[in-house]
Amino acid sequence: MNTNASIKTINPYNNQFLKEYKLHTDSELTQLLSTSNETFYKWRQTSIKERARLLDNLAQILEDDKHDLAELMTVEMGKPITQSISEIEKCLTLCEFYATNADDFLADELIETDASESFISYDPLGPILAIMPWNYPFWQVMRFAIPTLTAGNTAILKHASNVTGCALAIEKLFEKAGYPKGCFTTILADHETVEKLIENDIIKAVTLTGSEKAGRSIAATAGQYLKKTVLELGGNNACIVLDDANLEKYMDTMVNARMQNTGQSCIAAKRFIVTENIYDTFVSQFKDKVAALKCGDPMDKQTTIGTLARADLGDILKKQIDDSVKLGATIVTGNKQKDAYFEPTIITNITPKMPVFNEETFGPVAVIMKVKNAEEAFKMAALTKYGLGTMVFTQNIEMAETYVDMVEDGAYFINELVKSDARLPFGGTKASGYGRELSKEGIHEFVNRKTVFIKY
Ligand code: NAP
Repeated sequence: MNTNASIKTINPYNNQFLKEYKLHTDSELTQLLSTSNETFYKWRQTSIKERARLLDNLAQILEDDKHDLAELMTVEMGKPITQSISEIEKCLTLCEFYATNADDFLADELIETDASESFISYDPLGPILAIMPWNYPFWQVMRFAIPTLTAGNTAILKHASNVTGCALAIEKLFEKAGYPKGCFTTILADHETVEKLIENDIIKAVTLTGSEKAGRSIAATAGQYLKKTVLELGGNNACIVLDDANLEKYMDTMVNARMQNTGQSCIAAKRFIVTENIYDTFVSQFKDKVAALKCGDPMDKQTTIGTLARADLGDILKKQIDDSVKLGATIVTGNKQKDAYFEPTIITNITPKMPVFNEETFGPVAVIMKVKNAEEAFKMAALTKYGLGTMVFTQNIEMAETYVDMVEDGAYFINELVKSDARLPFGGTKASGYGRELSKEGIHEFVNRKTVFIKY
């Protein structure tokens, strides 16, 4: 089935070839799926206590191997090394969270009815296929795999091709932690093969974190075979800055909201919508902070802006910017591109018709729009097909809270950047997908919520 024979990985910082990986053959894939399925029937019978013990092992290994794993991530996709280390550390918190809470989340839930006893039993489904992106090569996979495995399922990963080394390293981590063979499997396959695998009876559900295009394609295939899907897709989050925002306190947070991970985050602040009285001050302070970012070798601990994960991603950004400039946008700073490097960029004079406003920009590009007041700001924020999150910076919390019900996104953050946290549900609405990861909601995505009704 695989039409390409191999995947070649390249360091986006220096264009150096890293490694070539052979794709799995059809018969290897059949064997891997079959092992995952056989393991599932044994794994589902293990106690939550045993699964929590393995999570503790996994956390320890992540801690021990932190620097090697972070380096692998950085050479494969250009993330500044300090951010790679933080990503691994965040995965640790996930292990700890589910090791502590899984027992509670998966316990039978008693419900009073006319039965002598009735309850919901949270049963695993089987092997779950996960198709994952390169931007957080460890975190994205772990936030799917940890709750899904802890609920008693097995996991099959098809990772983004450019982070194949990370994909195989993650498989090894689970092995080292003592998970039975077949609990977590990495497959190396092309798109067509992956879509074909969805048909296979062994696969019980599919989750995809990635672009809207990939989400539509995978969901259509899964729908044809009546397989449940969870989709975590793109975003175009607004960051609303109102007249009374505390810029001194929160400017670093706002710059980070756009520039962390070199701007390649689904929940990044992609559109700053700023009220007119504070606009000039905001642009000037934002510009100063951006100028202080340190671009360079992602392996250097001082670097805060690395490269994009692939050189071609810069071409997409460049076109979005150039097309917006033709419609009247102004480049305040940046907009230089060389191979996979894209200079941190600020753009003003924005209208809703511009690609930098109405499309997702996946890189270090801050788009700043001027509006009259809070009402107009929230209206502009909602002018997007995406629905991952909205953030607002203001000292008037009472007023900001009046918008809680009106924001149609998966998240609304006041005086904080939209971020993921093991304890809180994460996911989107509209073209950002559906379903939730993390928290109690996440561990309940791939379970059969079985009704049990007993009469004595
Ligand atoms: P992408 O092109 O959609 O790729 C994501 C994954 O899907 C990769 O593993 C890719 O494999 C695979 N894929 C794509 N089309 C497929 C198909 N037809 N069949 C099977 N597999 C397919 O996305 P990306 O450009 O790597 O990632 C950036 C996007 O992800 C952005 O839109 C971003 O906002 C979104 N994202 C969303 C979240 C969230 O939580 N909502 C988090 C992170 C990223 P290959 O690598 O082999 O092409």
